[in-house]
Amino acid sequence: MLLRYPAYFEDFRCIASQCPDSCCKEWEVLVDDHTAEQYLAMEDALGKDLRRYLYQDEEGDWYLRVTDGRCPMWRADGLCRIQADCGHDALCETCREFPRLTHDYGDFVERGLELSCPEAARMIFENPNAPWTEKEIPGGEEPDYDPVDMEILWETRKIMLTILADNSRSVQESLTLALLYGYHAQSLLDGGESAWNPEEALAFARSLAKPAQPAALGAFYLDLEILTDAWRQRLLSPEGETTWDERLRTLTQYGVQRYWLQAISDFDLVGRVKMVIAACLLVRYLGGDLVQTAQLYAKEIENNADNVDAILEGAYSSPALTDEKLLGMLLEV
Ligand code: SF4
Repeated sequence: MLLRYPAYFEDFRCIASQCPDSCCKEWEVLVDDHTAEQYLAMEDALGKDLRRYLYQDEEGDWYLRVTDGRCPMWRADGLCRIQADCGHDALCETCREFPRLTHDYGDFVERGLELSCPEAARMIFENPNAPWTEKEIPGGEEPDYDPVDMEILWETRKIMLTILADNSRSVQESLTLALLYGYHAQSLLDGGESAWNPEEALAFARSLAKPAQPAALGAFYLDLEILTDAWRQRLLSPEGETTWDERLRTLTQYGVQRYWLQAISDFDLVGRVKMVIAACLLVRYLGGDLVQTAQLYAKEIENNADNVDAILEGAYSSPALTDEKLLGMLLEV
């Protein structure tokens, strides 16, 4: 089967004690059953501590309980006690894999890095036009998707990425076109045959845009589940941005690469496009260092399935996420 990943993927190395926002903070780590069994069977001092902090939720999943806001295995020097004592292979799957993403579609797999890791975020933003490596690997299975639908998603994603990379247009125009192209691609996925004309799309966007309400957008995210005080404070006290940073293209490209093909599961492309565009608008509205703000966004939103679901639903129901309001923010009406 085909394996695809951005060229920088293989270069990722955890920077551990140098990390400004360790993944060992705040999150409860999901421990796979196999590793949990191994931890429970350990008889040394480490095993005794692991047993103290391991717990099962009502669904039977194992977690390491966050203690004083951090993983109890996180040492004062920023290193992991399990890894230091027993080696990398003793880590649970979550810790072995993070921040590596895997999207397995049966007959092909795409991999990438999660923006919620600061080092991965640095690599993503420093390599906006990284080529993708493709190689055949053993394994794979008969996909359960319709190949015609997947072909549409492949082709439309390529065009979407071209729209975003076209810096002969302003960032505002590119993101506006991206939002409307999402609707065009959705109609193709739904079996329609509409034509794509960027100039007509921009004229339509200008006619649709309503006065921007960035505070309402911030309030929408404030209503979602919040993990860190830092995020809550950012939402309560946005710094705002006056410029349209070119790196917003990269942020959108990352979102498109990550979420576009997932529409094969529920055929909701528009919801995902709105989620990605709204993320850019939010990051711009919150201001500060763009890479850090985007990383914090990803940590709060992308690593919380409930938050992602709430945004996909809000894309059709929230007054803060209407097309008119998003276009108003994009076009600064
Ligand atoms: S967030 Fe990334 S760089 Fe930081 S400790 Fe975790 S894997 Fe390492």
